[in-house]
Amino acid sequence: MKTNRFKKLDIQEVFSSIQGEGIFVGKRQIFIRFSRCNLQPKCSYCDTKIKPLNNTFPLNPAKNKTEIQNSTNQLIQLIEKLEKIYGPHHCVSLTGGEPLLYVDYLALLIPQIKKTGLKIYLETNGTCYKQFKKIKNKIDILAMDIKLPADCRKNYWQEHKKFLTLANNKKTFIFIKIVLTAKTNRKEIKTAIKLIADVNRNIPLIFQPVTPLKKIFPPKSNTILAYQSLAGKYLKEVRVIPQVHKILGLK
Ligand code: SF4
Repeated sequence: MKTNRFKKLDIQEVFSSIQGEGIFVGKRQIFIRFSRCNLQPKCSYCDTKIKPLNNTFPLNPAKNKTEIQNSTNQLIQLIEKLEKIYGPHHCVSLTGGEPLLYVDYLALLIPQIKKTGLKIYLETNGTCYKQFKKIKNKIDILAMDIKLPADCRKNYWQEHKKFLTLANNKKTFIFIKIVLTAKTNRKEIKTAIKLIADVNRNIPLIFQPVTPLKKIFPPKSNTILAYQSLAGKYLKEVRVIPQVHKILGLK
């Protein structure tokens, strides 16, 4: 798994909106969305767009460390501007794609963001544990996905276990998100629940029924409730939360 070593920065967009997923749903955040993801083939429900959207942040691809430094200054100025106009924000969310593909850049960027007084929220697919190790002490909130083989056509149990074990410390607030589709099966759900419980049963788990997309649909409501009951036997906090930003027509 190769990381992006200062060759090219693919920041797709920077914007202010509400957090639409997980335990901090509804909180106003600044989002930095990185392009590209290491999971191939993609998850069946992937909605990551390759082309930049409107109102994107025009950050030129950086070729060396000096350019990265200049780009970082530019990005910090934008964050300060967004905070002034739309703030106060709960935190800066690093999202994607998979932000950890740019870990060397994040190691430079995060301390600069923290100087503005904003916390760091990392959204990750929970597979790049080696990259995560480099910045794990800098992350305030970790929103980690567990990817189920039925939807992502590959088994990531080992990567997830290593990632979560590394992340499990008192300084970082962690929660796990699992997207549920009609293809999700109880056996995989149970494996995921046990994986979390083995690391720390206090880590909250969010079941996110998929927002219908092409031929991908959520499970029946009774099935979702059954998954929640099952998880509740092993974990202290289990919630079902849909993608609220999609319901509201927000980014
Ligand atoms: S991990 Fe996220 S960005 Fe990557 S393929 Fe899956 S849904 Fe898409």
